[in-house]
Amino acid sequence: MIKTISYLGLGAMGSGMASNLLKAGYELTVWNRTAEKCKPFARKGARVANTPADAVRDVDLVMYCLSNENAVEEVVFGPEGILSGINEGQTAIDMSTVLPATSLREREAYAKRGVDFLDAPVFGSKRESAEAKLWIMAAGNKAIFEKVKPVLEHLGQTIHYFGKNGNAAAMKLVGNLIVALEMEALAEGLVLAQKAGLDLNTVMKVVKVADFRSPLLVSNGQNILKRDFSTSFALKLMLKDADLIAKFSESLESPTPALPVVQNNLESAVALGFGEENASALIKSLEKEAGVEVKAGRSR
Ligand code: NAP
Repeated sequence: MIKTISYLGLGAMGSGMASNLLKAGYELTVWNRTAEKCKPFARKGARVANTPADAVRDVDLVMYCLSNENAVEEVVFGPEGILSGINEGQTAIDMSTVLPATSLREREAYAKRGVDFLDAPVFGSKRESAEAKLWIMAAGNKAIFEKVKPVLEHLGQTIHYFGKNGNAAAMKLVGNLIVALEMEALAEGLVLAQKAGLDLNTVMKVVKVADFRSPLLVSNGQNILKRDFSTSFALKLMLKDADLIAKFSESLESPTPALPVVQNNLESAVALGFGEENASALIKSLEKEAGVEVKAGRSR
């Protein structure tokens, strides 16, 4: 049974998950590149480690959720990385959004040390992470999945098993392709509605009930109307994911003709300085081109 867990990467997603592990009663060790973010966890009884290698020594389970491939490279493979501290019999779970090929590379490196590995990325954002309502996908050895499932159940509302390593990472990219296209559709639609002089509150009332409704469209649409771009999922991370999806789909010769349009808008929004804002700030590059600002209460 799993009793001791290390969580590495206390960003928007990791901090919620680590809090829920503490609440569930696990003995928790935390590590984060910016050490400041460990302090609230230390106050709640977590051990704070100085390096990833130090964080993972002698715990049953190691979990991490890091920005991108570079972060995984440093935290897993780097000097003082997880691989230099982890030992036979331990289990590691990567919850970051990375390429399936990266998950496979991790699996190989861990296997050489006798360590079990699952890729287990998530859907949901900062709020779902804090409220233990994530939608989790996991892939790797089935027996290991069954062993860690009770832990994942403290973090998410659903957990889907995807078979061999890399498949959960692939599912995450499939899902984020859909998310990226939905966000682009929302932004284009709202700018068009604004240009057409429609009452945007009424537009959102329709978006909420019509047969194309989705929670993602509703929450992002409402926040755009309030000009609330506070970050749950950073625009720069959505651009990172769009680039990963492009690489992944190219490697499989699977057509994604709409994706370059989204990549282009995301790049423009980042160039305008909105990379740290929420992904919904993608609309700002379209607004600039259209010469409008989408905001509630501006119908003509
Ligand atoms: P975030 O708030 O930016 O946090 C990123 C974490 O990665 C931080 O702990 C950061 O450390 C760490 N990190 C970045 N570069 C690093 C490096 N070179 N070395 C060591 N640590 C590094 O991001 P997030 O929103 O939590 O996202 C984390 C992952 O989950 C990403 O892969 C993202 O695509 C995925 N995801 C996000 C969401 C979402 O809605 N936010 C939803 C699903 C999946 P510092 O604190 O030192 O910067």
